[in-house]
Amino acid sequence: MIPYGKQSIDQSDIDAVVETLKSDFITTGPKIAEFEKAVCDFTGAKFAVAVSSGTAALHSALFAAGIKTGDEVIVTPMTFAASSNAILYCGGTPVFADVLPDSLLIDPAEVAKKITKKTKAVVAVDYAGQPCDYDKLSNICNEHGLLLISDACHSIGGAYKGRKVGTLANMTCLSFHPVKHITTGEGGMILTDNEEFANRMRAFRGHGITTDYHQREKKGSWFYEMVELGYNYRITDFQCALGISQLKKLPDWIRRRQEIAAMYDSAFKNNQSILPIAQSPNTSHAYHIYVVKLLNSERNKVFTEMRAAGIGVNVHYIPVHLHPYYRKNLGTSEGICPTAEEAFKKIISLPIFPGLKDGELKSVIAKVKEFAKA
Ligand SMILES: *Cc1c(COP(=O)(O)O)cnc(C)c1O
Repeated sequence: MIPYGKQSIDQSDIDAVVETLKSDFITTGPKIAEFEKAVCDFTGAKFAVAVSSGTAALHSALFAAGIKTGDEVIVTPMTFAASSNAILYCGGTPVFADVLPDSLLIDPAEVAKKITKKTKAVVAVDYAGQPCDYDKLSNICNEHGLLLISDACHSIGGAYKGRKVGTLANMTCLSFHPVKHITTGEGGMILTDNEEFANRMRAFRGHGITTDYHQREKKGSWFYEMVELGYNYRITDFQCALGISQLKKLPDWIRRRQEIAAMYDSAFKNNQSILPIAQSPNTSHAYHIYVVKLLNSERNKVFTEMRAAGIGVNVHYIPVHLHPYYRKNLGTSEGICPTAEEAFKKIISLPIFPGLKDGELKSVIAKVKEFAKA
């Protein structure tokens, strides 16, 4: 089976992890700050806080944003549930704003329509790896005093109008799950230029305690204080060693992803049944996933046929507001975000990852063209 996404691990990654396992540090050690600095250098963000998952990153960002019971946060439905769940973790209420029909990115005009007196923040997701329209979103947020949080779990290495992902919002959340661009097994990070947010998130990942073990040891003190209700969202030193090693290869991997996407694009150029998700000329797309709309065929049928042919296609995503939990607890239903709901019925994600071979790509293209015919 050719999967839709797959990690690349080589001997240098393995060596980096083994070396750290032989060091004195298993959990919080020097590799964490080293990884944070490497991601800052790569993205141009000032501060980075590494945590145990992308979901923990989103939770930390929404906590730092001060989201609490009664607050509304506007979010796209075309995402993994975690983008919205993190709002619920803080006691906030997710308010879904529909997406643009061509790119499936959150529609700034829809965001503007959903703002109320209770709105505190916007969570924008760089769906598939393409940055959202951050100029429009920032203008709306600035005008209404809202924080802009970027869920960039798909888009590390991407850019908007020449500005890199990590610098486009008040806080930017990354995931290092194995299907994402670089992996630490499980892991995540928040990037920000705001030192106060960074400090709050650092405390939040360690139970809301102000100083960590090593800082205390330096002070020669047993003293610590828990000042916020934090969590254990720590990432380990050996995971960060893996992340540092992976990050070195990211530029090559993004080039390969973009090359694969360009081959898909040209293969589907004059195809009446397969329409790739649109890319704006303003963005550099990092291509976490490659999504097409099937215009003339039953998506579920094509999905089954592709899987039977050994091609691990997927569907990204079931709109979040249609999940049973959301219907039951937030009273959401069909009709709230019609563009996302319509797109959901037609979309399919085709394999894209650095290790995908040209021959495999050709057979994916041949199969999807065969099955997608009207
Ligand atoms: C993967 C992902 C997450 C969650 O990341 P984890 O590391 O799996 O917790 C959140 N949002 C989006 C858009 C994602 O793709």
